[in-house]
Amino acid sequence: MIPSVLPTYNRAPLAFVRGAGSWLEAEDGRRYLDLGAGIAVNALGHAHPDLVRTLTDQAARLWHVSNVYRIPEQERLADLLVERTFADTVFFTNSGTETTELAIKMARKFHYENGHPERVEIVAFEGAFHGRSTGAIAAAGSEKMVKGYGPLMPGFVHLKWPAGEADHAAIRAAITERTCAVIIEPIQGEGGIRVVPDQCLKGLRDLCDATGTLLVFDEVQCGMGRTGRLFAHEWAGMTPDIMLVAKGIGGGFPLGAVLATERAASGMTAGTHGSTYGGNPLACAVGAKVVELVSDPAFLSEVARKGAMFRQGLESLVACHPSVFEAVRGEGLMLGLKCRVAPADVVKAGYDAGVLTVAAADNVLRILPALNIPDEDIAEALIRLDQAAGYFEKAA
Ligand code: PLP
Repeated sequence: MIPSVLPTYNRAPLAFVRGAGSWLEAEDGRRYLDLGAGIAVNALGHAHPDLVRTLTDQAARLWHVSNVYRIPEQERLADLLVERTFADTVFFTNSGTETTELAIKMARKFHYENGHPERVEIVAFEGAFHGRSTGAIAAAGSEKMVKGYGPLMPGFVHLKWPAGEADHAAIRAAITERTCAVIIEPIQGEGGIRVVPDQCLKGLRDLCDATGTLLVFDEVQCGMGRTGRLFAHEWAGMTPDIMLVAKGIGGGFPLGAVLATERAASGMTAGTHGSTYGGNPLACAVGAKVVELVSDPAFLSEVARKGAMFRQGLESLVACHPSVFEAVRGEGLMLGLKCRVAPADVVKAGYDAGVLTVAAADNVLRILPALNIPDEDIAEALIRLDQAAGYFEKAA
């Protein structure tokens, strides 16, 4: 018999009843150190007092009003994002997938309004993940995600993930008079913590400028402080035309945002897009508090320091367990352990050791803790990961 919850997830036999900071407590009272943070969502850990206060204050005042009215909480969050990024304007959604959908519409509309209705194609990259809607799976294009869901939305061209300058010629060749945009995650999350080299991001910017193509960064997973800068592309010293943000921005409350330059957004006039819930007062009150806390330079430099500390510990783990782990990758607190065993098995071993991690493609185990994880929890995490790796050696 089909379960009452549609079985689209292969769920772990764990259910949590409460969380505090980087810790989750299961139904049986056992505590787990959470290095997954809801897959990069709980940016400030569980039950952060400022977020709880902001949410409950706003809940007592006003949860929801339609976007047909002005929403001061939304305006405040948009102002904060505009002040702290390349963007001139912001549209709020409830999820990352919806940000992908708007980026596709915005890029096509831009060219349509500029007299180029033929510019509809979007260049995307192998290993990408942009969400689960029909448009977002077409954008990512992997067989695993699209199988059985055709016909797919046309208009996507898929290229090898750019690992260096040598790949630029292929990207240049793929940008034609029909191309409207290039979409890329500066660090692939689901794809296995694959960092696009800074010179590739700069090269993409130059190619897009030379061809009048819009550059779209999907920072749903790698943004919001995760790398030690507010957004990952900042390390490369350049900016996109459109950026997708979700996950961490709500700290656990469903919230996403499309950030854009005035030029890129110029086609999106009244009536061209909308959302019932996107940007409601409750979501935006929480989002503004998250952005305020995470964008503080002192907070971000702590993320970078903690990331370096965690990475060093993981390097030692690789050295101690060469039959289980191969290498460490990533930036800041978006870390990946390339495994020699199936990462899903390491995730399971982690359950026994009381530590939660997330598997990704390319045989990688993802480590995406709360950005404010205390140093002692990083030390404890390394002890528990060492224990989890030890199970494989005992079994061998
Ligand atoms: N883009 C990236 C890079 C993601 O990692 C995800 C989710 O994992 C999404 C888009 C889709 O976000 P959501 O699951 O909130 O729709």
